Amino acid sequence: MLFEQIATGGCQSYLVGCSSTRAAVLIDPELSRVREYRGHINQLGLDLRYVIDTHTHADHFSGGRELGKALDAPVVMHRLSPAPHAALRLDDGDMLIVGELRLQALHTPGHTRDSMCLVMSDRVFTGDTLLIGGTGRSDLPTGDPHELYESLFEKLLTLPPETLVFPAHDYKGRSHSTIGAEIADNPRLQKRDRADFVAMMQSLDLSAPTHLTEALRTNMTGAKPVSQLLAEAAAKLPFMSLAELALRVGGNSRDLVILDVREKDAFEAGHIPGAIHLPRGQLELRVNSELPDPTAKILTCCEFGKISTLAAATLRELGYLRATALEGGLKGWRDAGHPLTV
Ligand code: FE
Repeated sequence: MLFEQIATGGCQSYLVGCSSTRAAVLIDPELSRVREYRGHINQLGLDLRYVIDTHTHADHFSGGRELGKALDAPVVMHRLSPAPHAALRLDDGDMLIVGELRLQALHTPGHTRDSMCLVMSDRVFTGDTLLIGGTGRSDLPTGDPHELYESLFEKLLTLPPETLVFPAHDYKGRSHSTIGAEIADNPRLQKRDRADFVAMMQSLDLSAPTHLTEALRTNMTGAKPVSQLLAEAAAKLPFMSLAELALRVGGNSRDLVILDVREKDAFEAGHIPGAIHLPRGQLELRVNSELPDPTAKILTCCEFGKISTLAAATLRELGYLRATALEGGLKGWRDAGHPLTV
């Protein structure tokens, strides 16, 4: 078996391959590492057959959809997953064949309703159902401490004690544990009575994970996080530096349209000399009258350089093929001591 554990902060992803056929699966990929996973897959000469999410993550962005699309591998989740991009949905007991490897789904609701563990001959990928020295929380959407109790004590913990445990999170740099070690030492598993366990889970009083809403929004629907939208827009554009713009403004360059896409109040409080005003929110509706020449060199600017990046990408899509955005925005322009007019 080829086995790589790839940590992103506290998130653990697993690349598991069959050494004779090179067929492989990737479990719980993280969106920010998609290129790196592809690098590993290429380097090891693997043929990715499935991308598996053990559950709908609420704390980070899944790379499943991106990776599945890029490598033509179906995204596998439990059948109760709300994600429309989950192309292969498993029931409890279903088995995936990956070359000579076998992965069997064990439905373990509790952390989320769609949580599943994946059981192999000597190991189990426990998602957020069982962590080293802990369990997943049961207080987020679709979580249920009663179900978590049953999933743990009536299912997962009945695996042979020597079974290796590979969780979806570890915040202390540990790679794995065993079922036996967790039964013996995991503090949460010492509450073996259902009512005691449920009471403990209900009294944890954990703070909400950062990005909860955005993670659920994107992982449940396959939509993009804002950071990805910005990165994709930026990838389609060249930028102009503050220094280059200062030279052009000073030289009275006539072939540059400086388009300030901020709101009216901000524009009127001070803008780059010669800039025209067209707020981002009205861009599509007013381009034809405000920017009659599609061959013009257009520079978009905003306060921090993010909205202007989206605006320039939109202009390119609309056929303004020389649209570019100002790196650093008005803030950078002001901080560098360049002139403003009102
Ligand atoms: Fe989770």
